[in-house]
Amino acid sequence: TYVVIDNCIACKYTDCVEVCPVDCFYEGENMLVIHPDECIDCGVCEPECPADAIRPDTEPDMDTWVEFNRKYAEMW
Ligand code: SF4
Repeated sequence: TYVVIDNCIACKYTDCVEVCPVDCFYEGENMLVIHPDECIDCGVCEPECPADAIRPDTEPDMDTWVEFNRKYAEMW
């Protein structure tokens, strides 16, 4: 899955939301999140993010961010 990290805070762009083929972006408190179970790992959102806030969970130490994204995505 891909997840959103805190670089997203204060970013006003939603280009990522527009391109996601499965609409798995959701609004958190002050940033967007990705639902980890709905993301199909297509990767098209990553280059659209001007804040470099979208990362694959294969990067080191992403477990906390996966759970953070899940928590806020599941509030919807
Ligand atoms: Fe959506 Fe693809 Fe990005 Fe996952 S990787 S959030 S499916 S655009």
